Amino acid sequence: MKHQTLNINLETCLLKWFDTHHRDLPWRKTRHPYQIWVSEVMLQQTTVAAVIPFFSRFLTAFPTIQALAAADEQQVLKLWEGLGYYRRARHLHAAAKQLVADHAGKLPDDPDVWAELPGVGRYILGAVLSQAFDRRLPIVEANSLRVLARLFGYRGDPREGEGKAWVWTAAESVLPQKRAGDFNQALMELGALVCTPTNPACHQCPLAATCVANRDGLQATIPPPKKQPAITDVSEVGIVIRRGKRILLCRRPSNAGRWQNMWEVPHAERVIGEELMASVVRVAKEFTGLTVEPGREVLTIRHGVTRYRITLVCVEAESVKGRFKSKFYAEAKWLNVSELSDYPVSSPQRKLMTELADTNRLF
Ligand code: SF4
Repeated sequence: MKHQTLNINLETCLLKWFDTHHRDLPWRKTRHPYQIWVSEVMLQQTTVAAVIPFFSRFLTAFPTIQALAAADEQQVLKLWEGLGYYRRARHLHAAAKQLVADHAGKLPDDPDVWAELPGVGRYILGAVLSQAFDRRLPIVEANSLRVLARLFGYRGDPREGEGKAWVWTAAESVLPQKRAGDFNQALMELGALVCTPTNPACHQCPLAATCVANRDGLQATIPPPKKQPAITDVSEVGIVIRRGKRILLCRRPSNAGRWQNMWEVPHAERVIGEELMASVVRVAKEFTGLTVEPGREVLTIRHGVTRYRITLVCVEAESVKGRFKSKFYAEAKWLNVSELSDYPVSSPQRKLMTELADTNRLF
């Protein structure tokens, strides 16, 4: 009985707070499962501010699941360019095709159907079905995980082992009978706006009276800090291979591990002790079959990929002999600089292409 009373209080306090304090976000104007699904996929690992322009552009291009299913993968990747974690886009696209082929394009109120779709884990399933159909299904992501751990005073790590099981059970236990979708969003919103990783604003929190971390002054230690992987430095060379005014752009294979089916100028890790220009000649030959004459250094780009801190030095080189032949790339095209923006590329590669376009304009 005591537990139930606590839940009713939580529900009342949190939903009341959410009704007056929630941000007016584009995906909150709808209960349509397709739009909610797109937003939730985009929001995984990405901030709200970064997602907003992508969400509008994506829905303008693909207003329905049928439109998305009928699209070419290159179109989908191009619209996702800059948002990162491109596997999400490929999964979304594949899942849309599956729903159109097997369920006549319906997004059903059925967890079993959703669980079979590529890229749909417990979070996406709970987020879409609770918001679109008011299904009583929990969600756990970084914000709600932090709120729940503090609220219950959970001392272990809710991201690992039995902590993971604990946090999902906790998320389920606090769900109200009605407005489960709003309640899930309210937990996330509270984590984003009030119960922040450092210095949570407990004095503004609707859960302050029942929160164990607040009562015991444990906000700084619950949850424990995320274990950071050791960072490895990597030096790479990227080659802008020219044939007159045209540049060689290559498409990565569909089993590339990352940036699958996206385009790029050839790049690879440098061998320790190898001179930069020797790397240019070697990598060009190895990845494109072309013999090149290195030219000027264009740009150095520093970026991170998972636990790797990459320094990519980009060099121009003229193709002097051979035809494109690669054991790695799926295909290649010789393009004018103005055409480079038509192809989906990773963020570091887009930086390079913007630089090439700017330089091109000067001459
Ligand atoms: S009282 Fe403080 S620690 Fe507890 S949920 Fe609210 S903001 Fe977080």
